[in-house]
Amino acid sequence: APVELAREVRADFPILATDLDGKRPVYLDNAATTHVPRQVLDAVHAYYSNDNSNVGRGVHALGMRATERYLRARERIRAFLNAAAAEEVVITKSTTEAVNLVAQGFGSQVVSAGDEVLISGLEHHSNLLPWRRLCERTGAVLKVAAVDEHGEPSPDSFREAITGRTRLVAVAHVSNVQGTVSPVREIAAEAHGRGIVVVVDGAQAVAHRSVDVRDLDADFYCFSAHKMYGPQGIGVLYGKAEHLARLEPVLVGGGMAPLASYDGPSLIAPPPMRFEAGSPNVAGMVGLAAAMDYLDDLGRDAVGEHDAALAARAVEGLRALDGVTVYGAQAPRGGIVSFNVDGVHPHDVGSHLDAFGIATRTGVHCASPFVDSLGLVGSVRASFGLYNTVAEVELLIDSVRTAEKGFWSNNHPNERFLKS
Ligand code: PMP
Repeated sequence: APVELAREVRADFPILATDLDGKRPVYLDNAATTHVPRQVLDAVHAYYSNDNSNVGRGVHALGMRATERYLRARERIRAFLNAAAAEEVVITKSTTEAVNLVAQGFGSQVVSAGDEVLISGLEHHSNLLPWRRLCERTGAVLKVAAVDEHGEPSPDSFREAITGRTRLVAVAHVSNVQGTVSPVREIAAEAHGRGIVVVVDGAQAVAHRSVDVRDLDADFYCFSAHKMYGPQGIGVLYGKAEHLARLEPVLVGGGMAPLASYDGPSLIAPPPMRFEAGSPNVAGMVGLAAAMDYLDDLGRDAVGEHDAALAARAVEGLRALDGVTVYGAQAPRGGIVSFNVDGVHPHDVGSHLDAFGIATRTGVHCASPFVDSLGLVGSVRASFGLYNTVAEVELLIDSVRTAEKGFWSNNHPNERFLKS
C-alpha cells in the first residue's frame, strides 16, 4: 500500500497553497522541476540577509563569512554523495553543463578517431547531444546500447555493445521518461574491467534514492539542484580526483587563475576551482546544501519508497482503465509513470488534466530518440515527489478516466477535492 511520509511535509512548500484560478495545484511534474521548501528559501534568504559577499577574494569580514558558507556547502555536497573529498565536487549551473564539461574537457582527451562512445537507448538530450558533438569533432563513433522490449535498460546490451574501441560510457541512473533504474554499479564494473570511464546522469536519481558515488564506482556523476527541492541554476559535477586531474576547463577567467599574464604562464588553481571560473553561485550552493539537509532529515530511502509507492499505485490504477497504456515493466520505479490514452494526443490529455489543476509533462520529454523507439509521438508523464499524496494519485486516475470517456465532464471528481 502506498506510504505517506511521516511528517506533514506539504506545509513546508508555500507554492502548494497557491491558488490556480480557484484550484489547488496538484503538482505531478517533479521530474521537470521540484518545488522548494521553506527551509531552503529561509537558508537562501538568510545568506543574502547576513553573509552575502563575493568569496575567496576579500579579506573583509563579510567576504570571509560568505567564503565559510561556500566551503561548508561544498563539504555538504561531498557528504551527500559520499565522495572521498570535497575537491571532487565541481559546481556547475546544471546537469547539462556538467555533462558538457566532461564531454569537452575530458572526452576530447580520451577519444580519438575510430574510438567509440557508448550511451544507452533511453538518454535525455542532455546526455546525448554532448556525446554526439564530441564524436562529430573527433571522428569517434556514437554507439547506443539497445533498450529491451519494454524500453528498459539492459545490462546485457551494454556488455555486448562494449568493444576494444570503447573509451567512455554515459548512462542515466534513472530514466526521465519511465523512471526505470539502470544497473549503474554493474555497468561500471564491466566498463572498469576494460579501462573505460563511466559518466552517470543522475538528474532523476538524487531526489529518489541514496546516491553513494563510491559504492556505484561512478567516474563522473552529474545532477541538478532544481530536481531535488533546491534552487534553479545550480548543478554538480562529481569526478574522481584522478579524472579531474586530467579534465580541462572549458571556461577560463577569474577565480580559477590566481595569477595571469599577457604572454607568460598563468597560475591555475587545482580542482575544483579550476573548473569554476567566475564568481560562484554561493546562494545556490547554500540552497542546495539546505535541500540536502531537508532530504536527509526525512530520509532519502523513505522519500524514495514514498515516491515509488505512489508511482506503483498510479501504474496499477491507470492500467486498470480501458484504453490506457502504461509504459515500462520495471517496479519499483523512481517516482515516474509514462502513459497514453488510446486515440487521444498526449497534449490533449495534459490540457485536460491541467483544467483540473493537475500538472503533468507531455511530449517527448527531451528524450526524442527513446520515445521514437517506443513507437510513440509522445506520452503523458506523471512524476511524484515527497509532498504528493495518495489522494492526488487517485485524482490523477479519476481524471484520466474522464479523459478516456471523452473529456470535459462537468462532474469531475476534482470538484470535491479541489474545494477541500
Ligand atoms: N538528464 C535527465 C535524465 C533529465 O531528466 C534532465 C532534466 N530534464 C537533464 C538531464 C537535464 O537537466 P538540467 O536541465 O537541469 O540541466
